[in-house]
Order: sequence, then C-alpha cells, then structure tokens
Amino acid sequence: MRIARFSIDGNVAFGAVEGQDPDSLVLDIIKGIPYTDFELSGTKVPLSKVRLLPPVLPNKVVAIGRNYAEHAAELGNEVPEVPVAFFKPTTSVIGSGDAIEYPSFSNELHHEAELAVVIGRMCREVPRERVKDVVFGYTCANDVTARDVQQREKQWARAKGFDTSCPLGPWVETELDPTDVTIQCTVNGEQRQLGRTSDMVRSIEDLVVHITEAMTLLPGDVILTGTPAGVGPLNVGDEVAVTIEGIGTLTNKVIKRG
Ligand code: MG
Repeated sequence: MRIARFSIDGNVAFGAVEGQDPDSLVLDIIKGIPYTDFELSGTKVPLSKVRLLPPVLPNKVVAIGRNYAEHAAELGNEVPEVPVAFFKPTTSVIGSGDAIEYPSFSNELHHEAELAVVIGRMCREVPRERVKDVVFGYTCANDVTARDVQQREKQWARAKGFDTSCPLGPWVETELDPTDVTIQCTVNGEQRQLGRTSDMVRSIEDLVVHITEAMTLLPGDVILTGTPAGVGPLNVGDEVAVTIEGIGTLTNKVIKRG
C-alpha cells in the first residue's frame, strides 16, 4: 500500500494512493494513524487536488554515509569500517513538490538520491531477524548536501542539516522488497545517478541493528541508507527528481532562499 500525507482545504490527512496512471491517482482518506490499526474511509479525493506533505513527521532522521563503494570512491573516500551515522534535523524535512532553498553559506550544493526506511514501531536493540517487524515502509529521499561546507567543517550538521535539505516522498510504500531495486536521480530530466540497492555495503538489517544498538527509534523515524555514485551539483532553478523502482518519484525545485 502507498500511504501519502497531504493537505486539502487547510486540513491534514493520510490517504492510501489508488491507481497506476500518475495523472489520475486517487487518495482514499485514512481514519486513524497509519502506524497502528487504521481503516480506509472510502472518501476519495484526486491526488491532483491536494498538496502532498512529507509522508512522515519523523522524530529524527538518521542518515548513513558512504554505503555504496563507488560513491565513496568518487569523493576520494574509503568505505568506513564502521558505518558513518549522522542526523538530519526535523526542520530539514520537506515533501515532494516543496522547494529546496539554496543555502547562503554554500557554493556547491549536491543531490544524493537515497532509499529511506520508515520505522513503524518504537524499538531498541533490534535483533537482525526482527528488523522486518519494525519497518513500516520505504520512501524516496534526497540527502541534499552543501559539499563545500561538508569538506570545510568537521561535523556535517550545517552541510547536511540546513532547512529543506531532506526531501522525502512522494509517499510511503509498505509492501516493497527493498533488496534489489533501482535508485535514479535526474536533474532537469537528465540522468545523474543510477544505482541498485543490492550494491549497498551494509544492508537495511545491518543498519537497523547498528543504529538501535545506540538509540530508540520511534514510529515515523527515518533512516537514509546512503547514495550510489553520480552525485553532482544543483543550481537555482534546477528540478531534481529521485525515482525508486516500486515506490515512485520525489520531485523538488531549487530556489534561492528568500
Ligand atoms: Mg547521503
């Protein structure tokens, strides 16, 4: 099931996305909260009539760096012995169709297309075989990065945590087998990144075990699983799209911060 979060006439709701033709998708409004028991209301609205919001409101976004060997190599890095984990703040999260604001303190903004894991239940110290029980679903992410700032500053909080640096969406797919799907990034329709999740150095199971060894994950928390090779510049006016096979396409325009 594809679960979107959206606003219509000033009200915010979750809805199950129905249909296949991207131009005629319909939302069946959900009664209750998607992470627990919920029902479809049967009240339907066309997707074209709503504004999509980020599909989850995470308590935290935990991101993993250098999880594809070819991407680590393209920036002159080794695959780390222990996964590199960092946070993106909740204020960095935007939805599909929202604008990425080019930060004033950078001259080199990069896209990073990533598979995002959405957590469905509160969990800590999750054993490998229980990981599937704590995952709610998957969505597309763009770990937008001020590359010059990342290289200049020891911690990545500003480089990867500025407002609008974490587009998520367009919705959460709850039935995906994420082990071998394509991840693609285009800028103004031109392909920049094309990878497969099977090339991740650490699997989703590995990452959930590693992260929950340290901290409790809450329903709606998000894990970004790293980007394949092909990262590159974004400029004001660009339209960047992340497409993951079996999920959909997350699209955002880059604007100058007003
Ligand atoms: Mg990344």
